[in-house]
Amino acid sequence: MNLNKIMTNLEEIVGKDFVSNRAEDLYIYSQDPGASEPRLVNFVVMPNKVEEVQKIVELANREQIPLVPMGGGLTLSGLIIPIKGGIVIDMKRMDKIIEINELSRYALIEAGVTTGQILSYLNKKYPNLQPPVPDAPPSATVAGNVLIHGSGYLSQRHGDHGAMINGLEVVLPNGDICKLGSCATSDYWFSRGPIPDFIGMFTSSFGTMGIITKLSLKLYPKPKFRDIVFGLLNDPNDLPNLLLSITAQHFAEDILLGMQDVPEWMKGYIFIMTYVTGDTQEDIDRQIKIIKKIYRKNNARFMKAPDKMHRLYMEKPIFAAGAADFRKGGGFEYVGAFMPLEKVPDGYLKAAEISRKYGIPPTIGSRLMSGTHTVVMFFTYSFNRADPKDMENARNALHETNKLALELGGIPWKVELEGQQLVLEKMDPNYKKLLKTLKDTLDPNGIMNPGNWEVK
Ligand SMILES: Cc1cc2nc3c(=O)[nH]c(=O)nc-3n(C[C@H](O)[C@H](O)[C@H](O)COP(=O)(O)OP(=O)(O)OC[C@H]3O[C@@H](n4cnc5c(N)ncnc54)[C@H](O)[C@@H]3O)c2cc1C
Repeated sequence: MNLNKIMTNLEEIVGKDFVSNRAEDLYIYSQDPGASEPRLVNFVVMPNKVEEVQKIVELANREQIPLVPMGGGLTLSGLIIPIKGGIVIDMKRMDKIIEINELSRYALIEAGVTTGQILSYLNKKYPNLQPPVPDAPPSATVAGNVLIHGSGYLSQRHGDHGAMINGLEVVLPNGDICKLGSCATSDYWFSRGPIPDFIGMFTSSFGTMGIITKLSLKLYPKPKFRDIVFGLLNDPNDLPNLLLSITAQHFAEDILLGMQDVPEWMKGYIFIMTYVTGDTQEDIDRQIKIIKKIYRKNNARFMKAPDKMHRLYMEKPIFAAGAADFRKGGGFEYVGAFMPLEKVPDGYLKAAEISRKYGIPPTIGSRLMSGTHTVVMFFTYSFNRADPKDMENARNALHETNKLALELGGIPWKVELEGQQLVLEKMDPNYKKLLKTLKDTLDPNGIMNPGNWEVK
């Protein structure tokens, strides 16, 4: 591999201003905000059209150098820090909102469009429509989020964000530009099928199958009225029946749960936030009454939240919840895990034990997805970034929590390298064989984010 030649070739593809091998530029790309160790990056490049991405992929194949696609770099689990060095492709210059289709309710966008950008664009130009976005910082990209099965305030009703992809344009590891979904056979990016569906190959595969350059995202009508019914529960074992009863009513927009030992007044409870929406205030009042009754029947108490808290959580997405126990140094990472409802009580109780064992006050949240079909849980660990021992402590707690999630029958979400190996150990051998066959066939030179989902 000739690094000087690669630099010259990258400059020819994107122009001198949009490629760098300078230490001061690479520093930020060698790490992420989570607990992963920094790793070597050789180049960062910022293409602004699909043909440039294609040429970069062709170059990587010729030179056998790894490529790592990156959006906002905010997953916290080190997924965009190259494991074997190479080129980080920062997608943020591909930030065009190409089309909003109001009738079929989708947005066709480039892969660098951020969640903040699509939100403010729709708020301004299409105030009756809302996009599925996470409660992550607004610099997260829509692509980075949907590609990892992210979730947000529309997930209780409509599922995880991976389910909200209508179509993709992908540069495959061999450089082919390929369209997936209805756009493969139609001018409309309105549906994932009905043709053999390969979109799933590109979700939660962390850039190992190709680079997404465009996508179609489902949009949803925005309700006129929204409110929150806060509740408190003592025993997590009461959660499954409570959640089944609420979701049986079909009107909750979002259901969030949380447990944390800091501040002191929150200790010992599970907090419940059920969001209701409607066209009139009467709709809302009627729904609030029903939810309060369900809380009472299931050993939960209605809580009148302070105005400040109410205002904070009324924002959708919730940009500044400040929910984690941010200690000196400000670091935090969480194990996300998709869990079956029946194991959510154990998830709360056993993960809290892990937190206490590592001297980190428990901070655990969860959100329902598609009713009670899946619950995504967030087991959060804070650490002092300036203290290597404290970071190591958090990493150990995260690893033990990944194991717990798997033992309980859940699946760690957007899981970091070590956790991926835990998942692979438990995986059906023929699923693993299929994964390896697909990866080897699509990417014989092993250039796409190598090390991730590696079947050994
Ligand atoms: C405070 C905070 C709150 C959060 N809250 C939420 C939440 O409520 N819901 C939620 O879902 N997440 C949440 N997250 C997690 C995460 O930030 C988001 O999911 C975010 O949307 C990830 O997007 P990104 O652009 O940062 O992705 P990145 O980290 O850049 O990328 C994610 C993965 O996708 C791959 N990838 C990125 N772009 C492409 C592409 N164009 N082609 C192929 N592969 C690609 C990357 O290689 C990587 O493996 C939160 C994070 C923080 C820090």
